[in-house]
Amino acid sequence: MKALVKAEAGPGLWLREVPDPKPGPGEVLIRVLRTGICGTDLHIESWNEWAQHTIRPPLVVGHEFVGEVVELGEGVASVYPGEVVGAEGHIVCGRCRNCMAGRRELCANSVGIGVHRDGAFAELIVMPAGNLWPHLTKIDLDVASIFDPFGNAVHTATQFRIVAEDVLITGAGPIGIMAALVARHNGARFVVITDVSDYRLELARKVGVTRAVDVRTESLAQVQRELGMKEGFDVAFEMSGQPSALRDMITNMAHGGRIAILGLADHEFAVEWSEVVFKMLTIRGVYGRQIFETWYQMSVFIQSGLDISPVITHRFPYQQFEEAFKVAHSGQCGKVVLDWSA
Ligand SMILES: [Zn+2]
Ligand SMILES: [Zn+2]
Repeated sequence: MKALVKAEAGPGLWLREVPDPKPGPGEVLIRVLRTGICGTDLHIESWNEWAQHTIRPPLVVGHEFVGEVVELGEGVASVYPGEVVGAEGHIVCGRCRNCMAGRRELCANSVGIGVHRDGAFAELIVMPAGNLWPHLTKIDLDVASIFDPFGNAVHTATQFRIVAEDVLITGAGPIGIMAALVARHNGARFVVITDVSDYRLELARKVGVTRAVDVRTESLAQVQRELGMKEGFDVAFEMSGQPSALRDMITNMAHGGRIAILGLADHEFAVEWSEVVFKMLTIRGVYGRQIFETWYQMSVFIQSGLDISPVITHRFPYQQFEEAFKVAHSGQCGKVVLDWSA
């Protein structure tokens, strides 16, 4: 089969012919139909410091995908050939305290596809049957291919009650914008998103946020006044990894406000902790998706009319992966999807 491989330690990805994987007991062979390009893939491609410490070539990269079941390994009865499935890319140990208690997303020993073991940028992938998410309803394949980052957005946006709240999101990348859509769908009053990229602010406006704020030229205090807000934001999601964004967020929260942090900063940084204390803020770290409650919620949100398709701005056949990665690196895009079906 064809696969996008990190063949050696250094920048680049190579489209290679590699042996077809075979499903063992409890595993499923899947034909990959579409994949999403993630920031993680860009780090692996450009071979940044994190990738140098984490990735052991040769490795098939990629973790965001949708596919079709081809062959069942011994003992698998939960899916059928031809079924359209997504997959949770974290393969958990099944033995630690959290796994045993059913809190699989909290497994400390999880292994990621496309990072620690072969991934989804390939014509075929083998996954444990227990990691598959059979799509509940007929779904657009491009949309289905980005359930992994959509899951990050849903997992973050469902940490706190949203109904009638004023929501601030820092970072208008695809996950930030999808989190904004989820907040609207779930009954928020104002959904304000910030960024410093004209392209991404424009995309956020197009999908319908209350305000898309360029923090280079506008302050959140000003935006609050314009919206008639008096006490600050009730709920906030940090999606940018920028120290200034979290500081600004803390300053603009209401007393008793709740913050979920998904963005990863490159380095440690200081915040004004006394503000956190005096305002009695709740700050919570979020990672991955709840297995499989978040997947259920995603399917139900789509079924009940949430449309995340405008977040996908570029589509390429996999043979044009170099062009696709160039676009993804440029930041002049939302989600970039590769088609593996042709
Ligand atoms: Zn991803
Ligand atoms: Zn575990």
